[in-house]
Amino acid sequence: MKATKKKTKKETETLSNKKPETLVDKKGIRLDGRKLDELRPVKMEVGVLPNADGSAYLEQGRNKVLVGVYGPKEAHPRHIAQQDRAVIQCRYHMAPFSVDERKSPAPSRRDIELSKVIREALEPAVFLEYYPKTSIQVYIEILQADGGTRCAGITTAALALADAGIPMRDLVVACAAGKADGKIALDLMDTEDKIGEADVPVAYMPNLEAITLLQMDGNLSPEEFEKAINMAVEGCKQLYAKQKEALKSKYVVEEVEEE
Ligand code: UDP
Repeated sequence: MKATKKKTKKETETLSNKKPETLVDKKGIRLDGRKLDELRPVKMEVGVLPNADGSAYLEQGRNKVLVGVYGPKEAHPRHIAQQDRAVIQCRYHMAPFSVDERKSPAPSRRDIELSKVIREALEPAVFLEYYPKTSIQVYIEILQADGGTRCAGITTAALALADAGIPMRDLVVACAAGKADGKIALDLMDTEDKIGEADVPVAYMPNLEAITLLQMDGNLSPEEFEKAINMAVEGCKQLYAKQKEALKSKYVVEEVEEE
């Protein structure tokens, strides 16, 4: 019989969603064993959906995100078309099984708000002016959620746009930093997001060094806010390296030396 490792008290509290007493221990270690400036483990893959024009899949900790992109194609309904550029139609959707309690499959107010902020975070990176009167559709499905899904959605959507061959000024990559037990911490998971004091999601174009989304939930001093943004941007840079790896593993064929 396979021996099962006994879970520590901290792990049990995290997995059962029981409110833990502390989020960060005296050594600065978080409930899932991470340091304050450490990202969750990340996996990214592009071209995972043969039926979409572009697609990507991402896992970040317990988050699982799938994105399919279509277009640019003639905008429908016609009244959404812009004479001088393409429009991005973005849908962020949480699957019913993505959270602890079954979520209604109908779009919630939160889904609608996040669809808008994600669209606005992606727009500056795309050469929309190349494709007047068209639309680019971005479908973001959150298969499993554990905090930071808007950021995970943006990072995955940018990969899917690139996979669709849509010309872009830069990739967009997103990551949050926040405050847990009075300390600024990178890439909050759900428990830290809910019990912690603040969350600052940031989307960033790494080559242009431009921020395309900045939100804040909770309270931070101006110094803490600056520290959180800087930490989130550092997180974005690490995620950008993973985005490039994912694209290269599909599109760059290593040259084989001839004998
Ligand atoms: N969440 C949930 N049910 C919902 C919406 C959110 O359990 O209907 C959880 C989910 O784990 C999500 C987290 O709350 O990732 C934080 O949600 P928030 O609105 O802060 O957005 P996010 O951090 O995912 O971008």
